[in-house]
This record gives sequence, structure tokens and C-alpha cells, in this order.
Amino acid sequence: MTVYAGPVFEMATNQFNVIADHLGIPADERDRLLLPKRAITVSCPIHKDDGTIAVYEGYRVQHLLTMGPTKGGTRFAPTVDIGEVAALAIWMSWKCALVGLPYGGAKGGINVDLSKLSKRELESLSRRYMQEMIPFVGPHTDVMAPDMGTNEQVMAWFMDTYSMYQGQTVMEIVTGKPVFSGGTLGRREATGRGVAHVSRRVMDELGIDPTKSTAVVQGFGNVGSFAALGFHQMGMKVIAVSDHTGALHDPRGLDIPALMAHAARHGSIAGFSTELAFDPREILTLACDILVPAAVERVIDAKVAANLKCRVIAEAANGPTTPDADLVLDQRRNEIFLIPDILCNSGGVIVSYFEWVQDLQQLFWEEEEVMRREYQILDRAFERMLTRGKADGISHRTAAMAIGVEKVRAAKNSRGLFP
Ligand code: NAD
Repeated sequence: MTVYAGPVFEMATNQFNVIADHLGIPADERDRLLLPKRAITVSCPIHKDDGTIAVYEGYRVQHLLTMGPTKGGTRFAPTVDIGEVAALAIWMSWKCALVGLPYGGAKGGINVDLSKLSKRELESLSRRYMQEMIPFVGPHTDVMAPDMGTNEQVMAWFMDTYSMYQGQTVMEIVTGKPVFSGGTLGRREATGRGVAHVSRRVMDELGIDPTKSTAVVQGFGNVGSFAALGFHQMGMKVIAVSDHTGALHDPRGLDIPALMAHAARHGSIAGFSTELAFDPREILTLACDILVPAAVERVIDAKVAANLKCRVIAEAANGPTTPDADLVLDQRRNEIFLIPDILCNSGGVIVSYFEWVQDLQQLFWEEEEVMRREYQILDRAFERMLTRGKADGISHRTAAMAIGVEKVRAAKNSRGLFP
């Protein structure tokens, strides 16, 4: 029995069992690898603008402490629960191990509908959440970052709150901060840029010419918009995008810089064009070369997987594909090239790692340096995944996760079991 429940945690467990079977990991080692080391639940009371008090439930799950501090994003969304947060923390561990970062995975979040909070209420909630977490986090214990519903501003409030309690500025407590508060150049763009970069590697592998290709992006937030911009800059046509307010479709290719400017001004793609409006339920099954789910988990189920008309799935979101859909995609392996989430979106944590290193050293890099090193790590991990997939005749997801799980297992076994 565990406290972790729900479909997303079940999904992370199923995926782990596939890997553990593939690697022949004995039953008595599995719980030690899978179950999170720590889970913290806090109540965050704040004063609302109308004078009442509201309490929000917040979580932080630290999956494993074997590899160094834990690292992971913070999600503010009405769907957040402890099972989802635990699953996201587990995926972070395999991701960090796959790309070779000295971290275990963590994740946190607050169950909150942001559309119901004013900016002042959001600041109070962000600060109270960090204050409640102070006994459990630290630059060498657990380092937070943004995820859905949080951004540079929230990270700046987290850093300021932690620093006020320490009596000195501790920039390295969070990553994804504004550049003028110890953030790194290239972090805001890192995840989406990485998605576009790895997709480009796949296009080269498959002989697809970007200037004759199309992309579709579900979710036009931080990750989706910068991935779309990357495709646009390669000369691809981004023919459809969606967000929580709706979808836009233009077979001639959307004007991505103009759409990003609109979304920055208005908070969503709503109001950009009535002519191009499209049914968001159909976005994933549009015919295209690169399909990018960049919003939430479990959007590609078995039925959607059977109907996909893309050549590449670039999993920018965490956990967009269910295990049932994986079975379908396994059968369609020669038609559709899957770039699994733990590789595809790892540009974010890679550059977060660079931010942490720069903050610790107080030595800041040029953006070109950040990008060069990000792409170098992504290329290495991509090659490793391809080689492993071919050698073992396994899917890209199994290959990527197997590399991550193996590294964690080796580290745990070499350190032994305390006491
Ligand atoms: P964000 O909050 O900036 O954007 C999320 C976007 O998804 C918004 O445009 C929102 O409107 C849209 N959305 C929400 N529900 C939707 C739905 N049902 N259909 C279509 N669109 C929907 O968040 P983000 O940081 O861009 O994160 C997106 C995904 O990428 C998440 O799965 C996150 O875990 C993952 N991720 C983010 C980072 C990062 O650096 N931010 C790193 C790795 C992975």
C-alpha cells in the first residue's frame, strides 16, 4: 500500500515495471527504485482580496537522494494531486540519469485554479508555499523550478522568500528565475528549443526536409511556443496550435512570432483569429510531420494513437502517452518515430542545471555557451537512446528509461543500503 494513487502514478508504475522486466530487476529491488523517498503535504492559507481566508493544499515529492540533490518543477493547476506529483518526480529521476545530471527527481505543486487568483493572491500563495517548504528544501537538498502554471516571476518570489529567512540572497535555491535575479540566459527558451533540436535530429535521421514539413503543437505555453518558434525558424510550417482556450489551424503555416506576441499580451491564443479557429479535439490527429503534445499528461490514448497521422511524436509534455497507446505505437514503430518525454523535454532541466552551477560559482555564461552545451548533452543522450533501442530491439521509450533506471540502480547498489 502507498499513499500515491491515481492514473498518472499508475502510468509511471506501469512504465517502470516494463523497464524492470526488460532489465530483469528482482522484485525486492523494485520498490526501492520506484517509491519516493519523501512526500510533503502542506496547507497554505492566504488572505483573499475580499478579506476572507482561503487554504490551498500544496505538495512536494522527492523521489531519490542517491544521485545528489533532488530537482524538479512546481505545478500550479486544479488537477494537481499527490499521485501526479509523485509520478512527475519519478520521471524526473529517469530523465536526469539519462542525460547525466547529478540530481534525483522531485516535483511539487498546488491544487489551485489560477484563473480565480489575482496577482497579489498568487504572490501570497507562492510565498506561503515556499515558506512551508523551507525545512525540506535547500540548494544541496532540493532545488525547485517552474512547470505548468508557474513562471520566472513565481521563481523570483520563491527565491526572495527563502532568502529572507536565510538573511542572505540564495539564488541557487530555485532555477528558472529572471536573468537579473540570478537566472541564466537561455532558460526560458531551453525546453522548447531542445524539443525543436531533437526533432531536427530525427528529421535528419529520417531524411525529412524541414522546409517541406509541417508541425502541430498542442499547448502554447512556455514549452509549446518556443518549440513552435524553433520549427518556424527552421523553415517549417506550424499548421496548428492549441491551448486551454481553443485551437487555430492554417495549412499555409501560422505566424508564430505574431502568435507568441499575442499570447504574451493576452495570456492565451484566444482572440488571435476567428477565421483560423479549429476544433481542439482534432488537433492530435491532424496530418503533419512532427506532432508536439506540449500541454498535459495522457492526451494520447490507444484510440488517438491508432488515428495519428504524423511521422514523429515529440513528447514535450511529461507523460502525454498512456501505456495502452505505447502498445499501439510499438506496432506502428516503422511509421511513427517517438521521441520520449524524458529525452525530448530534458533541455529544461539541463539548462536549469547550468543555472544552478552558475549561481553556485557566481560566474555567468553567454547564451551561445548555454545553447552549445545544451545541444551537446541532448545529442549524446539521443545517440545513446538510438543505439540502445536498435541493439535491444526495444522502443525508444523503453531504451531511454532503461538507461536512466540502470544508472540509478548502479548508484544505489554501489552506495549500499544504510545502515
Ligand atoms: P505552461 O503553463 O507555460 O503552458 C501550458 C500550456 O498548455 C498553456 O498554453 C495551456 O493553455 C495549455 N493547456 C492546458 N491544458 C490544455 C489542454 N487540455 N489542451 C490544450 N492545451 C492545454 O506550461 P509549460 O511549462 O509550457 O509546460 C507544458 C508541459 O511541458 C507540461 O507537461 C510540463 O510538465 C512540461 N515540461 C515543462 C518544462 C519547462 O521547462 N517549463 C520542462 C519539461 C517539461
